[in-house]
Amino acid sequence: MNVLFPALHDASPAIALRFGDRALSYRELAAAAAPLAGRIAGESRVALWATPTLETAVGTVAALLAGVAAVPVNPRIGESELAHIVADSTPSLVLAAPGEELPAALAALPRADIEAAGPAADSEPAPLPYEPVDETPALVVYTSGTTGPPKGVVLSRRAIAHTLDALEDAWQWTAADVLVHALPLFHVHGLILGILGPLRRGGSVHHLGRFSTEGVARELSADGTMLFGVPTMYHRLAAEAGRDPVLAKALAGARLLVSGSAALPLTDHQRLAAATGRRVIERYGMTETLMNTSVRADGPEATGTVGVPLPGVYVRLVDDTGQAIEASDGETVGEIQVRGPNLFTEYLNRPDATSAAFDGGWFRTGDMAVRDPAGNYRIVGRKATDLIKSGGYKIGAGEIENALLAHPGVAEAAVTGEPDEDLGERIVAWVVPATGPDAGPAPTAEELAEHVARQLAPHKRPRVVHFLTALPRNDMGKILKRDLHA
Ligand code: ATP
Ligand code: MG
Repeated sequence: MNVLFPALHDASPAIALRFGDRALSYRELAAAAAPLAGRIAGESRVALWATPTLETAVGTVAALLAGVAAVPVNPRIGESELAHIVADSTPSLVLAAPGEELPAALAALPRADIEAAGPAADSEPAPLPYEPVDETPALVVYTSGTTGPPKGVVLSRRAIAHTLDALEDAWQWTAADVLVHALPLFHVHGLILGILGPLRRGGSVHHLGRFSTEGVARELSADGTMLFGVPTMYHRLAAEAGRDPVLAKALAGARLLVSGSAALPLTDHQRLAAATGRRVIERYGMTETLMNTSVRADGPEATGTVGVPLPGVYVRLVDDTGQAIEASDGETVGEIQVRGPNLFTEYLNRPDATSAAFDGGWFRTGDMAVRDPAGNYRIVGRKATDLIKSGGYKIGAGEIENALLAHPGVAEAAVTGEPDEDLGERIVAWVVPATGPDAGPAPTAEELAEHVARQLAPHKRPRVVHFLTALPRNDMGKILKRDLHA
């Protein structure tokens, strides 16, 4: 396929985008985006004020049609992070919905309003200016900033097309699919998978504007076929589906429930399966690599794993000495490295970081995993924050977090390591106790430590347990371990 969006090119009358009660067909989307594309053609790079609106989707398509790289910006961004992104990406113009008030760093730039309503539907189809699937930068997406300051990732049109076509294969994604969407639009998950994915397939997307369990129930009961979510969403859906038969039925009727951006705890998998009879499938990706692996829609059940490499993507595990691990024993932990047409072009303005991120042609993800005999990858955590070296063992934070979450008195859990004279590092747990009518008495530190030792092994017992009212999380619901302080 040599154009990014064939249905747009064909000016199809099918619905492409729906945000609340506003919708655009492909033909209307082309008519809305083409004039804006003409207006911004020739700009070096544009910032996109990425509210969860129809305008953001139209603005993204316009930039793609203009062949101008767009930098989606989180509308809830803090001043210093915005200053960093503007100085780093040097946009020559900002795209925003009409009337949207912008912070000073963006308001200082020339502005183009995004008009989401095109000329009348019966006018001539707009000619589409720029369509190739090539190495031109399409988007500069900043990483989530989970482990440090966000890095600008340059993504080509080819990488985006490749990843979306690999997902077409793994998820049997077609023009008949209607995606239910409630994610923000400034990261890969919400923007590339959630908006550009349906557009490349010629299908449609219904965005809820804001996540709610009622909204998901309503859209899946209507014509929604797929749901993309982050673990915090599935956590709420799992809890609610246990009480609400309408939601349980809606989830049960979906063709595909997909989770990503962080690990979905086993307890949530189990609760959802118990309430709906359905499995959520997990996929694994990064801003830098787009999608690497997924549990396949047509494959065997693989709960608790992120599935198998996507078509065209090579995945390997590497040990501390840089040797590839051949074992598929479900036990030997190594760093995930990936190679393939899904990879980013470079970190913006950071040639050193770009070359340091590669081992030959392999991109070092910094994520640690095991491979099971069926070839599924199970992520145990990030090398930098989730691998605890304690008493001669290498212990993944994730399995201790899963064990803690299996305790009825625990609502949320994060596990870190801290220096210890005897052990090298000791295991520290950060726990938000369960509240509400069926919570029971709050668990003690000793009880939780015993619980983990019993569930896993004595050396995996947390030595310190901190109780909190909430875990620090970013806008994608990812836990910010660097912000955990006693
Ligand atoms: P930064 O790179 O700025 O520290 P980040 O790595 O969180 O932030 P993203 O590129 O948005 O930024 O996230 C990619 C990371 O998300 C992966 O490296 C991995 O750790 C995690 N991740 C994504 N999907 C999954 C999944 N299904 N299971 C576990 N972890 C996942
Ligand atoms: Mg990262």
